Amino acid sequence: MALRFFNTLTRATEEFAPIAAPAVGMYCCGPTVYDFGHIGNFRTFVFSDLVRRHLEFRGFAVNHVMNITDVEDKIIRRVHETGLDLREYTRQYIDAFLQDLDALGCRRPHQMPRATDHIAAMLRLIARLMERGLAYRAADGSVYFSIDKYRAAERWPGCACRYGQLVNLNLEEQRPAGPVKADEYDKEHVADFALWKARVPEDGGVFWESPWGPGRPGWHIECSAMSLEILGDGFDLHVGGEDLAFPHHEDEIAQSEGAGGLAGGLWEARRPFVKYWLHAAHLLVEGRKMSKSLGNYFTVRDLLARGFTGRDVRQLLISAHYRETFNFTLDGLEGARTALARIDECTGKLRELAGPAIAAPAPALVEAFTAALDDDLNVSKAWGVVFDWVRDTNRALAGGELDPTRAAAELAAWGTVDGVLGLGGRPSAEAPAEALALVEARTAAKKAKDFARADAIRGELKALGWTIEDTAKGPKLKRI
Ligand SMILES: [Zn+2]
Repeated sequence: MALRFFNTLTRATEEFAPIAAPAVGMYCCGPTVYDFGHIGNFRTFVFSDLVRRHLEFRGFAVNHVMNITDVEDKIIRRVHETGLDLREYTRQYIDAFLQDLDALGCRRPHQMPRATDHIAAMLRLIARLMERGLAYRAADGSVYFSIDKYRAAERWPGCACRYGQLVNLNLEEQRPAGPVKADEYDKEHVADFALWKARVPEDGGVFWESPWGPGRPGWHIECSAMSLEILGDGFDLHVGGEDLAFPHHEDEIAQSEGAGGLAGGLWEARRPFVKYWLHAAHLLVEGRKMSKSLGNYFTVRDLLARGFTGRDVRQLLISAHYRETFNFTLDGLEGARTALARIDECTGKLRELAGPAIAAPAPALVEAFTAALDDDLNVSKAWGVVFDWVRDTNRALAGGELDPTRAAAELAAWGTVDGVLGLGGRPSAEAPAEALALVEARTAAKKAKDFARADAIRGELKALGWTIEDTAKGPKLKRI
């Protein structure tokens, strides 16, 4: 069966056929670096990583681009409050974001352009929109995109020239009084949005020169310009959270298609800005919308500080279908830990039995898993396949049905599947130094025949979340 995705643009599940297969240009709206990313943001980033990994597994050569929004309303406010230089201020959150991405086992995007390094492309795109009469300079000196002009523009094949491609809009009812300058505006309203924001005193030193006076780009034009510049006029795949579909992504389409691309390529090739749009659904935390005041607001580092691993968090984030609203809970994280322990135990036994044996992946697991993910990344089905395999493999191991070669083949099959899931093995070094020191103390106590002390240490390890197993090769730590 061919690989299929649900395309928000057509509201249909379609076979994935990139413009120049096997190459795939993929853009994902990256973080706005004014704070640490929260777990809701990371649902989208982990989802993008899963899309990319599956495409790579299916033989596509993915060029994964994720922008860093390092100039935007909220950032400007914080820079103003802290008195720091923009680069200095955003640097700390860019570094933190990369650490979080690594902790969650995400492959780093091939390119991570920063908005402030691509101002020239933004100015070029705005100039094209001005030339076509789709943008205007308002009394406040800012440049806005005209939705009315865009809708009335001459249509060309491949461009809908329609505002409301990703969401259904009622332009008559959802019209506000005038243009909006804010990057994030009322989702109930359709409005002419800012392409270039004229400099105001609060911007301090954050401004660039332009043909329309000093100022800074709007958030929406940043993504259009960077994606078109790097991936070309018209590319395959745009991924993001569903909260960005309107107005952000809708505005990206309007600007890009209105301008015909950064170099007129959309008109020449008669194709849309983006062929496939994939949106990940909202994340609830403990059953509610995440908010600092409700106490259910978690950054990745908050969860790590509670003793969970990035692997636990990743497993939970990819345990449900990306188009379903998912309820992320601390209980769920405990469940993820248990699920991973079951897999680790099974693969650990296979590893022991296989020894040095090497074999090609056994086909059954890989085929069923691939079929599940080819079906619009149906992870629920894929996890069902994985846990059936764990159960059957455990049975076969217990029944002595596997020889080392067969064990190696099953292990290789898991390795293939995990190349897509991205969970990785649990390194033994993951046990904290404190736990490892206790293991040594326990060995010493046993040698000295101080069994009461040895038992007490077992209790101390348990409090740290570890259990100890005595094997022929010595004591082994396992997560509880
Ligand atoms: Zn974006």
